[in-house]
Amino acid sequence: MKKSPEKKVENKLSNCKYIFVVGGVISGVGKGVAASSIARILSDRGQVVTAIKIDPYINIDAGTMNPTEHGEVFVLDDGDETDQDMGNYERFLGVDLSRANYMTTGRVYQSVIERERNLEYGGACVQVVPHIPLEVIRRIENARDKANANVVIIEIGGTVGEYENILFLEAARLLKIKNPKSVFFVMVSYLPVPSTAGEMKTKPTQHAVRTLNASGIQPDIIIARSNRPLDDKRKEKLSMFCNVPVDHVISAPDVSSIYDIPINFEKEGLSDLICDTVGMTCGPVSNAGSDKWKKFADKTHTKNNAVNIAIVGKYFNTGDFTLSDSYLSVIEAIKYSAYSLGSKPVLTWISSMDFEKDPKKIKELSKYDGIIVPGGFGSRGIEGILKTIEYARKNNIPYFGLCYGMQLLVIEYARNVLGFKDANTREVNPSSKNMVIDIMEDQKDKVENKKMGGSMRLGAYPAKLKKGTIAQKAYGTDIISERHRHRYEVNTSYVKQLEDKGLVFSGTSPDGHLCEIAELPVSKHPFFLGTQFHPEFKARPLSPHPLFTAFIKACKKGK
Ligand code: GLN
Repeated sequence: MKKSPEKKVENKLSNCKYIFVVGGVISGVGKGVAASSIARILSDRGQVVTAIKIDPYINIDAGTMNPTEHGEVFVLDDGDETDQDMGNYERFLGVDLSRANYMTTGRVYQSVIERERNLEYGGACVQVVPHIPLEVIRRIENARDKANANVVIIEIGGTVGEYENILFLEAARLLKIKNPKSVFFVMVSYLPVPSTAGEMKTKPTQHAVRTLNASGIQPDIIIARSNRPLDDKRKEKLSMFCNVPVDHVISAPDVSSIYDIPINFEKEGLSDLICDTVGMTCGPVSNAGSDKWKKFADKTHTKNNAVNIAIVGKYFNTGDFTLSDSYLSVIEAIKYSAYSLGSKPVLTWISSMDFEKDPKKIKELSKYDGIIVPGGFGSRGIEGILKTIEYARKNNIPYFGLCYGMQLLVIEYARNVLGFKDANTREVNPSSKNMVIDIMEDQKDKVENKKMGGSMRLGAYPAKLKKGTIAQKAYGTDIISERHRHRYEVNTSYVKQLEDKGLVFSGTSPDGHLCEIAELPVSKHPFFLGTQFHPEFKARPLSPHPLFTAFIKACKKGK
């Protein structure tokens, strides 16, 4: 008898494999990149893979957190404000994910509580266990169905042994009871090499595995992160004390380019190992996808043709460290375009406050081939950024402004070309006479009533492009779709005056009301362009973003 299409899907879904990725010993061990790389190598072998990030905090999303606290807020097409690992998944897998792929403790509890208020538990006592883990499982299955995936990678945030992620481990354990042959665990652990001992130590990982065992979970594969490769002795030790066959211990030493990791995993035979372990039939290792990836990964080692880019903004410093993580997607977008043009990007982080403290310092910007001002909020460092933009405009240094960087471009132009000395954004100076950047109409009551969570203009919106402009030529199309995250916009009552003085609004919303891209024609400046959206969220290793590529081209030309 012929199977109905529904039946086929059902079969496929019931054959779905769930690979949980958990972290051992320390945070920041590279779980996200490991999960992304596993996703990549399995998708290169013909599997339909989707990936889920679980963040164990109470926040409903990452949008309300300070970037110095959390790193980048990565925005999806549907407007979800998520963790930067979601960006890694999208970039490594080359797919667009949705809010179904992201969950937090807050989200899980919120759904359960809403359901309880709607009498959906039929009078039962609603309990942390099983109702919270069951909601986690429901969400995993929902993401699986949405992507029609036969492999779901689920990264559980935090480190094994933390109180916060216990309920997610409990969900994984319950899912395994339901599907004993379909649920697998990869532990990404850390092996220190203390200088006093001079050798790699396995004990912390042994403890992490034991802690995981206490949650009723046994890892199937251990990915051993360290600053050097694992020797056979260490593999045997981990095998013996962590109950995994020796060939299930994968060496994952530090690398200079994260894009080598899928390739290194394959050198260790990881996709074969996963396919064998989970009982999947996989396609050949070397198909077109992985060949393209290898070519790209090779380029990430480019040593010549440096382009020097200054990234000017705030949020760069926390204590003694520069928190470039807050702008991860910007960094990666620059890299993809630079590599595609055979260049090595050299990035310098500059705090705009330096130019406020010492105005003479602005001249140091002449060293750079291009300047980027990324997104941001609030008034700190803004005058320094305006000085930066003025310097770039007057000295023909390519300038690329992202979101706030575009709004500030417009303010700079209004102040210094139109002569509106107090031009500003309502965000910084609500009593300015020339509010060239104003709050969006539908944002007013949200801000007044402090409804700040998930309420900006978020996610993908279309824009139409003006023929013959830098933007239109770069995209090679008239309609684009890009991701947004803002409350303020160019005040349309200033558009005519700005245009009369030479600024071109080369991208607008399809109805023409909202300014999406501002630029100066190439006859006036090699590259002076800002976008109200965040192009960096759509840049991918195998398809660099056209505007970043146009910017890097201009930087190279001006050298
Ligand atoms: N603060 C500005 C706004 O809310 C820009 C936001 C951003 O750069 N993401 O509109």
